[in-house]
Amino acid sequence: MKVPLLDLKMQYAALKKELDEALIRVAESQYFILGPEVDKLEKSLAAYLNVKYAIGVSSGTDALLLALMAIGTKPDDEVIVPTFSFFATAGVVARLNAVPVFIDIDPVTFNADPADIERKVTPRTKAIIPVHLYGQSADMEGINSQFSILNFELERPGQYVNKKTGQRICVIEDGAQAIGAQYSDGRKAGTIGAVGCYSFFPSKNLGGFGDGGLVVTNDDELGELLRIMRVHGGKPKYYHRVIGGNFRLDALQAAVLSVKLPHLDAWSEKRRENASLYTKLFVDRGLAEEEGRVSFDANNSVLLPKPVYKSTALRNYHIYNQYVVRVEHRDELRKHLSEKEVGTEIYYPVPFHRQECFAGLHSNDADFPASNFAAGHSIALPIYPELTRGQIAYVVDSIAEFVRRA
Ligand SMILES: *Cc1c(COP(=O)(O)O)cnc(C)c1O
Repeated sequence: MKVPLLDLKMQYAALKKELDEALIRVAESQYFILGPEVDKLEKSLAAYLNVKYAIGVSSGTDALLLALMAIGTKPDDEVIVPTFSFFATAGVVARLNAVPVFIDIDPVTFNADPADIERKVTPRTKAIIPVHLYGQSADMEGINSQFSILNFELERPGQYVNKKTGQRICVIEDGAQAIGAQYSDGRKAGTIGAVGCYSFFPSKNLGGFGDGGLVVTNDDELGELLRIMRVHGGKPKYYHRVIGGNFRLDALQAAVLSVKLPHLDAWSEKRRENASLYTKLFVDRGLAEEEGRVSFDANNSVLLPKPVYKSTALRNYHIYNQYVVRVEHRDELRKHLSEKEVGTEIYYPVPFHRQECFAGLHSNDADFPASNFAAGHSIALPIYPELTRGQIAYVVDSIAEFVRRA
C-alpha cells in the first residue's frame, strides 16, 4: 500500500472547480500584486484569527523577517529562539546581523522550554520567537511568567518593558505550522504576541499554489509599520521614513487561499482524528503506553506526541501540521518504511546550535538535551486529512513489524 507523507492532489481534486475559477478570475483581471484579492483574504483572515491587522506577505520566512524589522531589530541585538525548529526561525535573526540565542525545548511538547529563558535574557535581548511547532501552541503563559520573574511588565500585547532599565522585549510568534491552532486560554496561536507570523507554503495546513505568508498584530503602531514595510517602507509612496522590502503577497495566492480558508477547520479536525487513531493503534498494538512519554522502555518503543492540556477546562487545540513520534533506530525505521512505500520526513535532524553556520556562537551542546534527543529520534508520519483508516493502520503495522524485528 502506498502512503505518501502528503498528497495535495486529493485536496485539489475536491476543490478543483472553485480553485480553477479563482485562477481564471485573476488571469482575466490581470491584477497580480496585492489588490482586491489580497484585501479580501486579509479581511477573512483577520476575522478568522480575531485580530485587528492581518497583512499578507510573500512567505512565512518573510513574515518573520518583516516582524523583526518592524520592531526595530538592530545589529548585535539578541533574539531568543528554540534551537529545534525550521531554519527560518533563526535564519531571519542572523540575516539582520542580530544574534540568535538558543533555548532548549520541552521534551513533551517540542516547544520552547520557558524554564530556559531566564538565564538567556541579557540587556541586549530584543525579542523572543516562540514556535508553535507541528501545530501546537507554545507555552505562552510559561513565557509570560519568566518575564515577570525578570521584572518585565507587559506593556502592550506581546511587548514587555523593564521599568527600571527601560529595556523592551517583544514576543514574535512563529505560527508557520499552526494556523487555526488554539492556546489553552482559547486564543488562536499566533495572536498573543506583538506580531504573529504564518506561512502558506503548500505543505502547511492552509497552503497556497506557491509561497505566501501572513503577519498579524493587534497593535496600531506595528500594524501601520508592517503594512508600509511590506512595500519598501514608503509612505507616501517613494517617501521613506523607514526601510522595508518587497514582502508582497500576490493575487493568485490570495485567490487560492480564499477558496481554501473555509475548509481549514474541517481539515484540522480530520488531522486530529487521524492523530487519535494513530495513538489508539500504537497503544493497542503494545508499542506505546500513552501520549507524552519521553523515554523508551519495554512498553514504549514509540514515543507518541501529546496534545497537552487535553482537559476540557483548557482549550489547547493541536492542529497536527505534523504528527511526530520518536523511535530508537530512527534512520533504519525510515528506510524500512520507505521500502513499505510509507513517506516520512525528519523535522529536524540538526538543531541550530549544531549548525555549521552558527558555530561562531559557541553554544554548549550539553545545554540542549531535549532538542538533541528530538533531532536523533523524531520521525514525521503521514497525517494529512484525506488519509484513510486503512492507510493509518498500515503505517502502524509497518512500524510494528520493524520494532519486533529489531
Ligand atoms: C514553514 C516554516 C517557516 C517558513 O515559512 P516559508 O513560507 O516556507 O518561508 C518558518 N518557521 C517554521 C516553523 C516553519 O515550519
